[in-house]
Amino acid sequence: MVIVMGPEATGNDLASILALVEAAGVEAFVSRGVQRTIVGLVGDVTQLDQGNLRGMPGVRDVVRVSTPYKLVSRENHPERSTVHVGGVPIGPDTVTLIAGPCAVETPQQTLEAALMARKAGATLLRGGAFKPRTSPYAFQGLGEAGLRILAEVREETGLPVVTEVVDAHDVDLVASYADMLQVGTRNAQNFALLQAVGAAGRPVMLKRGMSATIEEWLMAAEYIAQRGNLDIVLCERGIRTFETATRNTLDVSAVPVAQRLSHLPVIVDPSHSGGHRDLVLPLTRAAIGAGADGVIIDVHAHPEQALVDGPQALVDGDLELLAGVMRDFPPLLGRTPAGTLTA
Ligand code: PEP
Ligand code: MN
Repeated sequence: MVIVMGPEATGNDLASILALVEAAGVEAFVSRGVQRTIVGLVGDVTQLDQGNLRGMPGVRDVVRVSTPYKLVSRENHPERSTVHVGGVPIGPDTVTLIAGPCAVETPQQTLEAALMARKAGATLLRGGAFKPRTSPYAFQGLGEAGLRILAEVREETGLPVVTEVVDAHDVDLVASYADMLQVGTRNAQNFALLQAVGAAGRPVMLKRGMSATIEEWLMAAEYIAQRGNLDIVLCERGIRTFETATRNTLDVSAVPVAQRLSHLPVIVDPSHSGGHRDLVLPLTRAAIGAGADGVIIDVHAHPEQALVDGPQALVDGDLELLAGVMRDFPPLLGRTPAGTLTA
């Protein structure tokens, strides 16, 4: 059982709850988040009356669950959630396009990519300033200088920014620039980082670990939620399989499965799944067809010069097709396209 306290809850409200719970012989774990305090109960909770607990001052919700992930599970939260990023919805009614460069390289490259993204109907800008690279010799990102570029490009284009944080020590810094924090596949089970982003007061996009089961992915999301942050978007980005023809294997079935098990929005990254430009549109269509709440796509004006992931970046000539997919496919599933082809 989990007790979710409201933002108005006082120290005395929490103390009364803890006294009641402990008197019933149940152990309580308190997580104090920025937005909410959450009390996880472990032990025999049969003596605790859920209705009484719900009526106590400061209590927002009481959740009784049998899945190992409680706060993100759909079991006790049947309505699917919508997460807002700088005012842009990601949820069951829309299909949101997040696009931009894999990595922030220069102000001009980032602005060009952002304008391409917006032209294709993107309402959020992606771009990594801190890059988690497999090789220590590869470009690691511009760090804070890259965050400043993203903030300038947001100013110029009006697109809120989604950017990755790779180290728990950088969470406050990245959160001071970003509208949404991204946790990448290589950090999907970095529990200290998950807890830190859970306390950062910003929405989080959590990529699926490249060899994580769906349950492990949802448990990772639970680490974030447990710190009081339920503004989490799950991102399927392809998993490791025996197949070598694609960078990863897009697990399309993970979209409806994760949506059945969790109330959180689920988006797809067709760029990092396929790893090749030619696969991005087919995988985008597949993602939307499977019910994804959005897609996140790499774009670059000069991919042959890109410092990271050039082969998978869409170029100017691809944008009209992408815009067409983003415009025409969502209505077939009763959803609103989140953006339209502009200039
Ligand atoms: C990215 O989106 O830039 C990225 C590194 O993705 P992933 O963590 O899915 O590899
Ligand atoms: Mn990349």
